[in-house]
Amino acid sequence: MPDHVADIKSRLDIVDVITGYIQIQRSGVNFKARCPFHNEKTPSFYISPERQSWHCFGCSKGGDMFSFVQDIEGVEFPEALRMLAQKAGVTLEYTQHKLHSEKTRLLDIHERGTKFFEAQLWNGNAGSRALAYLRDRGLTDETIRAFRIGYAPNDWHALSTYLTSCGYTRQEIIASGLAVPKEGRSYDRFRGRITFPIADVNGRMIAFTARVLPGTDDVGAKYINTPQTALYDKGSVLFGLDKARLAIRHEGSCVLVEGNMDVIMSHQAGATNTVATSGTALTPQQLKLIHRYTQTIDFCFDADQAGEQALRRGIGLALAQEFTVRALRLSGEHMKDPADYVREHGNEAWLAIAKDAQPIMDFYIARAEVALPLATADGKKQALALLGPMIRRMTSRVEQDHWTKRVAQLVRSDESAVRADLATVRDDLEEYARPEVPATPAAAPVALRGSALDDALLTFAFVYPAIVATEEPMVTKATIDPVLRDALLAIARSTPESLRAPEAFSLIDPESRFSLDALYMRAHEVWDGVSERELPLFFRAMLARAHTELVRSQLRDLESAIRDAEARTNAEEVQLLAGRAASLTQQLALFTV
Ligand SMILES: [Zn+2]
Repeated sequence: MPDHVADIKSRLDIVDVITGYIQIQRSGVNFKARCPFHNEKTPSFYISPERQSWHCFGCSKGGDMFSFVQDIEGVEFPEALRMLAQKAGVTLEYTQHKLHSEKTRLLDIHERGTKFFEAQLWNGNAGSRALAYLRDRGLTDETIRAFRIGYAPNDWHALSTYLTSCGYTRQEIIASGLAVPKEGRSYDRFRGRITFPIADVNGRMIAFTARVLPGTDDVGAKYINTPQTALYDKGSVLFGLDKARLAIRHEGSCVLVEGNMDVIMSHQAGATNTVATSGTALTPQQLKLIHRYTQTIDFCFDADQAGEQALRRGIGLALAQEFTVRALRLSGEHMKDPADYVREHGNEAWLAIAKDAQPIMDFYIARAEVALPLATADGKKQALALLGPMIRRMTSRVEQDHWTKRVAQLVRSDESAVRADLATVRDDLEEYARPEVPATPAAAPVALRGSALDDALLTFAFVYPAIVATEEPMVTKATIDPVLRDALLAIARSTPESLRAPEAFSLIDPESRFSLDALYMRAHEVWDGVSERELPLFFRAMLARAHTELVRSQLRDLESAIRDAEARTNAEEVQLLAGRAASLTQQLALFTV
């Protein structure tokens, strides 16, 4: 079997791979970014082009391009391999058995099911009514094909029979959610309905939502959805994201709407950065998905929706996750959603709205001005109840301050009074707790203890190997962790070129190669701004401290061992231990800094 991993790594640059997902900026020889795996304001996510690796100092994740794709796409290694192979133009050859997991078979079932429904829509007799309905709703044939809309025939077993003929078991078809088990048998879940396949972020079908065809006798829910399956968790999927993600990154914002038809009509109109929660309230997992591509979300409102709690919670959640939240406003009578709007007013009108997002606070303030009796005490209180929770969700103090002032103007009240009231306003968004924001590690090379001290010594060695080489006798004599000593000496004997070699650290210290890799990335930043003259002193001071701490801790251990031996009246052992303690005490004088 050819070495696909090495082949792919030689063709792709980790910087290009990661830029495909998040915005990064150059920082010396490395690149920095806000970590896509945890919430943060200051970038602590590093990418090293020369080592082809990445590391986050906030959440300690790190690795190579494969682990990055695994983590950001939420896939296992074989899938990451497939994706990167495609990007690299490498054809994967499996001389061994082909991996055909349960998940792969479920994906295949969905692909077959999608094709089956499409064929019914375009070729079937019953499908022609569905097709006419879709065209009547304003969808072009091109859009219908692009979103792979189909039709499920009004038959209890048509799809199951077809899938069985393709070699899938009844258990698999039930597990996919396409059939419903009943008394030892099963029947098709979707019947006599227009089918909208739901794709994962890579465009692979994982579920369906199906709408009744107006005019059919069949009473029942307007929409039926795939239940939770091994492939599909509705809170972790955004409808249309597979088609929208590039546009989201390009536009720098994501338009969030409610229904699948809204997404489809928006895309047809040219607002291709649109996705939908498809019937659920916005979840933290969905926000994480969006966060891969942008920090800005545009919520879409009609006139009646602004007060809706689910929408407000979604906004609160997005604000707490440090998104820039904006509002798109549908105006006009009976303009419930973007799909209606596009049909009524045309593509251009919707595009104009989609590009005219206003800050969410401006939107709510404008609404308060119109809807609330702001001259009365009660109106002022309502305004605070409406706006307060959002201000409290903001993670930036400057932003909070700005909007507090605006609210004070709005209610014509004293700013300090507003501030006091905001602190006590009932948080109607509290359902979503504010996520933990891990602290960015301090970069200052002073006052370090324990392993942080070891890290500082190593980063120093990376930047100034020559100084460590000069101090080699002290490094050899000092009582420090033997692994640390070996690493320091190995770095001191290296050249900058040899350190850049991808395998450098596995030679220095195979066990902790990874942390060395990470320290190397940050080394220049940690040791920025220390004057040349002070450098040797700094190193000695750190070495002295590492030495002293280890000797002291060994002394403490000896002391308790001596007490122990005394208690057992073992004079010989006491004498031996005391001798060791004496020589350790002498070692304390090794450094005179
Ligand atoms: Zn992180």
